Amino acid sequence: MRVLLIGPPGAGKGTQAARIAAHFDLARIATGDLLRQEVASGSELGRTAKAYMDRGDLVPDEVVIAMTRERVVKANAEGGYILDGYPRTLAQAEAAHRWAEARGVPLDLALLFEIGTDELLARLAGRAREEGRSDDAEETVRHRLEVFRSQTHPLVDYYRRRGILVRIDAVGPVDAITEQILALLHWYKFKALTAGADRPEWAIGQGDG
Ligand code: AMP
Repeated sequence: MRVLLIGPPGAGKGTQAARIAAHFDLARIATGDLLRQEVASGSELGRTAKAYMDRGDLVPDEVVIAMTRERVVKANAEGGYILDGYPRTLAQAEAAHRWAEARGVPLDLALLFEIGTDELLARLAGRAREEGRSDDAEETVRHRLEVFRSQTHPLVDYYRRRGILVRIDAVGPVDAITEQILALLHWYKFKALTAGADRPEWAIGQGDG
């Protein structure tokens, strides 16, 4: 299964991605985490990325696309992946799409995490206190939300047109949101399996009772 998560910062993508990945044994590819590792290691890529990240801007497309390519290839060979925080621009979405189409392994679903701005600001203020992420300061957060609106939100229409967008209500208890997503993905897997079966749909359940 190949799934991606779209949502503003603080929508809970990271938490849910980790749970979905564990449940379905998928690789979680989280570009924010990968970039923070690069920054921590002091690599050249990390030094390039840091200035963008501290400002709350997106790291240039070519850097992020190059960083994810190998991981996606490996994860795909091992049974699938969940993209967390990638793609974040139309150029990234096109790159991911072209890659997957060329190999005959298109993305299955794009999950859109929907949540209001006030709730996000409250959550991110909490995260700034608990995790001390430098880009969770209030001014930077507002800028990141604006970057999401202008650069990432257009992906909603892109995936809607491709027919793979599903909206997730990202407000409420974390466990309930996980349940909602897992149920959806199980249903999707079942549907994909039965659609490929060589007997007609009406035959399902034939012979029972
Ligand atoms: P995140 O942890 O996903 O909120 O990402 C933290 C920061 O990493 C973002 O504010 C961006 O500066 C950078 N980043 C993460 N993913 C991407 C991406 N797909 N494209 C560009 N920049 C990214």
